[in-house]
Amino acid sequence: MASLLLKGGTALIHDADDHVKALKTDILIEGNKIAKIEPEISAPPNVEAIDCTDKIISPGFVDTHHHVWQTQLKGRHADQLLLDYMVTGNMQSSNFTPADIFWGELGGCLEALSAGTTTLVDHAHLNYSPSASKLAISATVSSGIRSIFCYCPTNRVASWEPFSLSQQPLEPWVLATLEELAHQAPFGEGRVTLGLAFDLYFLGEEAVASVFAKAKALGVGTITSHYLRNVQFSLASTVELLHGFGLLDESILLSHATNATVEDARLLKEAGAHVSCTPSTELQMALGQPVCFRDDLPGMQEQSSLGIDCHSNNAGSVVGEMRLALQAARGMQNEKFVEKGKAPKTVNKTVEEAFNLGTIQGARAVGMEGQIGSIAVGKVADLIIFEGTSPAMVCAAQHEPVAAVVLHSSPADIETVIVDGKIRKAGGQLVKVEVDEVARKEIGKAVLEWKDVARELLKSREALQEKIEKLDFAEAKKVVMRDFHIDESKLTDEI
Ligand SMILES: [Zn+2]
Repeated sequence: MASLLLKGGTALIHDADDHVKALKTDILIEGNKIAKIEPEISAPPNVEAIDCTDKIISPGFVDTHHHVWQTQLKGRHADQLLLDYMVTGNMQSSNFTPADIFWGELGGCLEALSAGTTTLVDHAHLNYSPSASKLAISATVSSGIRSIFCYCPTNRVASWEPFSLSQQPLEPWVLATLEELAHQAPFGEGRVTLGLAFDLYFLGEEAVASVFAKAKALGVGTITSHYLRNVQFSLASTVELLHGFGLLDESILLSHATNATVEDARLLKEAGAHVSCTPSTELQMALGQPVCFRDDLPGMQEQSSLGIDCHSNNAGSVVGEMRLALQAARGMQNEKFVEKGKAPKTVNKTVEEAFNLGTIQGARAVGMEGQIGSIAVGKVADLIIFEGTSPAMVCAAQHEPVAAVVLHSSPADIETVIVDGKIRKAGGQLVKVEVDEVARKEIGKAVLEWKDVARELLKSREALQEKIEKLDFAEAKKVVMRDFHIDESKLTDEI
């Protein structure tokens, strides 16, 4: 059994009330588990010791909403709103070959690992063929990350010229592939489990209930859906809809839930369902205020976690989303005082609350609190080691380590990332990945360094760009607005 001993670090340990204490300690990892947290553990034979003097050991981050395939689309959406992103981003999986999906997915997983994410929920709306989903899973396994790969019956583009969406998103192969994958799951020694991502509510109650029942019968534990209540998407409440169908329970993880109602918050809490907030896309794309720090929605903060959403739009760093969620909530709260000519006496929300959204609350959102999200004996060894004396971290790391992580760190300060007891980033660099059997034939390589992955991503991006630059986005956007019943009169630059 491979063992690791982390010597003399400052570990961020959660207590029973979710308070995070900084504890100077050693941590012994045996196999994939945390075996001991004690001062001065003497090294058993054949153990690899890592000197953690002046370093912070944090639980790995949990990212609960991410479209991991989108790496080749990075840089395209910086100044876009939701409807433009829908056609230039979301629907571009139609132009990805299964090999493009492999490289995009691997790039997304490796960016996440490099930024300290050890578990992610992948809303994989890339399912244009069985092999697209299979290679995405294979890339995820290869990367070494822990993932709930949420297989997605995707609302597919049928044609770009003229633009149309498939009339039959649930063709027989779609659910047959779900079944096939469920019988093979879990993948990667148990690290990659199968979930369901579902957004096809327009198919009606009977179809929705039958897909959910099938998924649950196949052992799927997490079902994730987009819930954006606004005029760019739909004003209907996905929470009330699921509740009405009798499907709102603890397996449900809704992304965004922006503009959720007080009744939504009550129903979510009562059902034990969870929410993934993605501040970068929510704030940029006018989805509404992130709900994770909204005290006017009782119970919502407790049910919330954080996601990246699109690393094609923003950095794949959970810390980045912690920081944005916290400071945006503070800014919005402070503004209420400023508008009345007053000033608050107390700062709104804490770095600890932001840290919890990206760690223990992410674990709860996927029903894995017993395995991940905090550092405790018996949990799996998903850990990050931050350099505490880097230009960004020095003095902050020694005075208040949680503040150092949330407000001062960047992925460059993450020296080591451990997932399932295996080192995936060392000395600040991603380690080589072993290509999973399923993809080996397609890719023709058994081992990849990051520079190989980057080279393939650039080739893939170029080939995709040739296809993408021929598309009529304006026409596609018109059809999407018509098919999604979007009220054009509500889209305006006048306010
Ligand atoms: Zn999304």
